[in-house]
Amino acid sequence: MDVPRQLDFAARNPQVPAMDRPKLTILLAAPRGFCAGVVRAIDIVERALALYGAPVYVRHEIVHNKFVVDDLKAKGAIFIDELDEIPPGERPVVFSAHGVPKSVPADAAQRRMFAIDATCPLVTKVHMEAQRHHAEGLEIILIGHRGHPEVIGTMGQLPPGAITLIETADEAEALAVRDPEKLAYVTQTTLSVDDTRDVIAALKRRFPEIKGPFKEDICYATTNRQDAVKSIADRIELLLVVGAPNSSNSKRLVEVGLKSGCPRALLVQRASDLDWSMLQGLSVIGLTAGASAPEVLVNEIADAFRAHYDVTVEKVTLRDENVSFKLPRELRDQPAA
Ligand code: SF4
Repeated sequence: MDVPRQLDFAARNPQVPAMDRPKLTILLAAPRGFCAGVVRAIDIVERALALYGAPVYVRHEIVHNKFVVDDLKAKGAIFIDELDEIPPGERPVVFSAHGVPKSVPADAAQRRMFAIDATCPLVTKVHMEAQRHHAEGLEIILIGHRGHPEVIGTMGQLPPGAITLIETADEAEALAVRDPEKLAYVTQTTLSVDDTRDVIAALKRRFPEIKGPFKEDICYATTNRQDAVKSIADRIELLLVVGAPNSSNSKRLVEVGLKSGCPRALLVQRASDLDWSMLQGLSVIGLTAGASAPEVLVNEIADAFRAHYDVTVEKVTLRDENVSFKLPRELRDQPAA
């Protein structure tokens, strides 16, 4: 018989009486959580709902976080996989922050849809780099993760065969190219900074003429969140990363924590995922969040620890962020209905 989820949670997560709670320090890493691209993408859907009413269609998860997606669904967004799921009419459709292949806006235009592009401007920058290299007659190597929506979107900026995808330094070592003197590389924005450095080093050693971005494609938010984890990794027994299993930058934070000296690192979506039988005897842990995880979930995790430990939160701020991106013009200048 299935155990009801609530009972199962209670059995796995018995609360400790206040007097008996052991001391625990939570190092709260910063920067963490929402980046400027995610804030903009969510704002776009909310602004479209305010201007045009429900429903607003959204192609794919606007950002990789179920909590955010469910919240937008409750406000009137309908998430779809492909444009042909949208019934005829004039409802807006929003493309996700990860970017889309060129065929998607072309398809929307052909169907006379009102499309709003929530692609992060830093992803668009990579698209433009790839297009510029292609126009110069260069073969393009994309460093990224197969199947990730951002990679599908970047590869879809150019005709099939124009971009070759690699994931690892080993793949860079084995790569066969058309002309070693006519090469360029771009990267996914949410990779591990250190792993990507190794891949780029292998490419540059094998193909010294290869062209790369003036400033790297891994975005400021990914870099800052990884650096913040590195700054606490050797002080903590466990790193908790709040984020979704399909969030690239969240998964990278787990890897960075482990590689930087933290003995355990877990990706967690909600407090109800925590298995307290595995979380006993701790004295110092780290807490951070991927770029698509809202702060309310970080607070939820910290509060869950307060039920089991006498918690002291120490904020560890590596650097401040003050990046923001404008909304698309069609949403910017109009008063809400
Ligand atoms: Fe943009 Fe970086 Fe955020 Fe991705 S992680 S949406 S590239 S700012």
